[in-house]
Order: sequence, then C-alpha cells, then structure tokens
Amino acid sequence: MRGPETSVLAVQLERPGAGFLELSREALAGYAQALGHAWSVLGVGAGDRVVIYDYGSSPVAYLASRAFAPHLERGAAERTLATALCVDGLSDNVTRFAHVLRHFEPRFVFVRAELVPLLVAGPTAVPVAQRAARLVVSADGDAPAPGERACWERGWHGGLSLLARCDAAAFVAAECPRCRALRVPEDLYEVQIACAPGVRSPDVQELPMLSVGPRFLDLEPLITELSVLPAANGAGCSHGGWELA
Ligand SMILES: [Zn+2]
Repeated sequence: MRGPETSVLAVQLERPGAGFLELSREALAGYAQALGHAWSVLGVGAGDRVVIYDYGSSPVAYLASRAFAPHLERGAAERTLATALCVDGLSDNVTRFAHVLRHFEPRFVFVRAELVPLLVAGPTAVPVAQRAARLVVSADGDAPAPGERACWERGWHGGLSLLARCDAAAFVAAECPRCRALRVPEDLYEVQIACAPGVRSPDVQELPMLSVGPRFLDLEPLITELSVLPAANGAGCSHGGWELA
C-alpha cells in the first residue's frame, strides 16, 4: 500500500454520478506520463503542433500541458517537446476549431468522439483543405462502433486513431497507428482481461473487457466498458496486445 498522499487536484468525472478523481502531485505526474506515452505511440514528436478539441475536465486536455493544469510539472507536450493548443469542447466552437486548423496547421488533433460527426459531414464540416492532421478520437469508457469509425476515416484525410480512456481508473492508452493494437505502458498500468470470450447466444457475442489498475494511484483495478479483441498485428508489428472491438 502507498502512504497517504496529499491531493492537489480534484477533477469531476464526466459520467453522471461518478464523482471526482483526486490526484496527488505524484499521481498527476504518472497520469501525464501515460498521456505522454500515448502521444509518442501516435507519433507526436519534437516541434509538432497538437490541437485538442475537448473540455478542460478531460484528461486529454488537462494532462496535455503544464499550462493547462495546476501542479502539473510536465504534461504530454513538455514530455514530447510538442506544442499544445486547446479549444473548449462545446459543439458551438466547431467554426472556431476550423479556423484554428487553418492558422495553427497542427499535425495532430485530439477530438471528443461526440464532436466528430460535426467535423466530417453536414453544414459544420471542416473544409477538406483543413483535414490534413491526424484525428485522434476518444470518449470516456467508450469506443465508436467499427462502422462509425470507418465512416469517419473515409471523411477525414489525415487518418484516424483511437485513444482508449477510462477516466475513473485514470487510464489512457493509444492505438499503434500501424496495427491498431493498444499500447499500454506496463510500468504504469496493470491490465487484465475481465472475462473470457464466449458466445452467450447465437446473436450476441460476449467480448472480453479490459480491467485496468493504475500503478501511480491507489485505486482498485476497475473493469472498464472497453471491449477488446486479440490484436491482429498486421503491418509487421509484433508487440501483441488487444484491439478495441
Ligand atoms: Zn503495432
């Protein structure tokens, strides 16, 4: 057991009734290290510009830079030597987001999943000329259905990756951009599969789910709602792991 650590930041979790995640300075650093690892997996490197279209209560935003959260010494941007800019995740900000893409010319954009439909179709769609950045999509404890993802990928020219999140477990991990397996930093998380795959009925396939426990925070491992499949590991990758189902 860890000794008591003083909480320096309490972040309200997005899920109704989920309460707050309390983070000590050490836990905040560990969580930011996990996001920095995810940025590196996605290919963010020195000098890259990154735009985040999400709320300030999302770890994708507040762990991105020391400029965004008190007591955070090194966010993902400082760890990867990139520059981060954040647009508040309100759907009303979609026009501003398009302007930011045009002027800031980021290499990566991190976007809340619920906003992606606004960006790829309809009257608020981002102009095609501004769709060159890689889109990194995430939602707390959820992942878009494969068909939805494929539709978004067709509409976005810079390519798309998913960032797996479970905010109540302080968990964040990115897909390998080549083979799509989740790359979970094992020094930061204990990851297990919560149930064996099996068939409940001819129509419903029961998929294994990720159970995660952060090593940098005194929390019980939590079974997430993230369903996974064994990684196919195409593109010459051999690191193994799981893909979001
Ligand atoms: Zn891979």
